[in-house]
Amino acid sequence: HETHDVEIREEAVTTADGAEIEVAANVGQPAELEGAKARGADGVGLYRTEFLFLDRETPPDEDEQYETYLEALETFPDGRVVVRTLDIGGDKQIPYLELPEEENPFLGERGIRRSLGPDADLFETQLRALLRAAADGDGRLAVMFPLVATPEELTAALETVDAVADALEDEGVDYAIPELGVMIETPGAVFTAPELAERVDFLSIGTNDLTQYVMAAARENERVAELRDPRHPAVLRAVARAVEAAHERDAWIGMCGEMAGDPELTELLVGLGLDELSMSAVTVPDVKAAVEATRTDEAAELASAALEAATGAQVTERIESTTPDQ
Ligand code: PEP
Ligand code: MG
Repeated sequence: HETHDVEIREEAVTTADGAEIEVAANVGQPAELEGAKARGADGVGLYRTEFLFLDRETPPDEDEQYETYLEALETFPDGRVVVRTLDIGGDKQIPYLELPEEENPFLGERGIRRSLGPDADLFETQLRALLRAAADGDGRLAVMFPLVATPEELTAALETVDAVADALEDEGVDYAIPELGVMIETPGAVFTAPELAERVDFLSIGTNDLTQYVMAAARENERVAELRDPRHPAVLRAVARAVEAAHERDAWIGMCGEMAGDPELTELLVGLGLDELSMSAVTVPDVKAAVEATRTDEAAELASAALEAATGAQVTERIESTTPDQ
């Protein structure tokens, strides 16, 4: 594949038959924003906010966070910026937050679990900054919660958003409620996706974590790397279930794990019904080109064939037999 000379498309793209697919970038620090824009990203589909907390000794305050979120919105005044609330634990550590020693950190206190527990104060501060940025920034801000496993966690997170909004109201500070979403990264979230989608604007599938949890194969363990195949029907069926739940409840659904950035999988993902794909910026031009080469009827056929496959190898065969040579 010649990937280096793919044309950069600054405009939003559609499939060959006119279906709009948002192609956004995953961003891990402010320095990446301009590069994402330069490669034609429609917006930011995953802004990982851990960087705000790294390489320092104390957490950033509300104003520092507010400025950071405004900067992202200013970079994409016509697009959407999806900020993920702080997601630590497991593979993501911040020394001064003193995470507990756990036998199984990937099954422990991470993501939203910490935000609803020991890091509740940080969660509130972050939400205050986000609600203020939603009111003051150009562009559209969206906020999503990582590693949700149950509707109860979503309820608690949404209650915190309401409490933060009430406090800002009482203080006379301008705020707006951004679009709100849940990451689908656990089997619990897949099986309760209808209840989750009912109460938010969107879902976003984090296939890095979802694959590890569906396959019970830890992200950093090379010995089980082969099991972590996001093309496996076990993972694809989880994706399909989340998509169906979202669309039945008028929520949009995106994908922001590594899988979304593989142009060989674009047709399949469009066929599965994803509305948005978010990836590291380098792959945006290739995925935009792949979207334009896709026809939704063929994509839907490919997706049903893949969902009926029994093995990852069969899925790969089906992809290869339908994808035109690029
Ligand atoms: C994911 O898990 O797929 C994801 C997008 O989040 P992260 O890789 O930051 O855990
Ligand atoms: Mg994740």
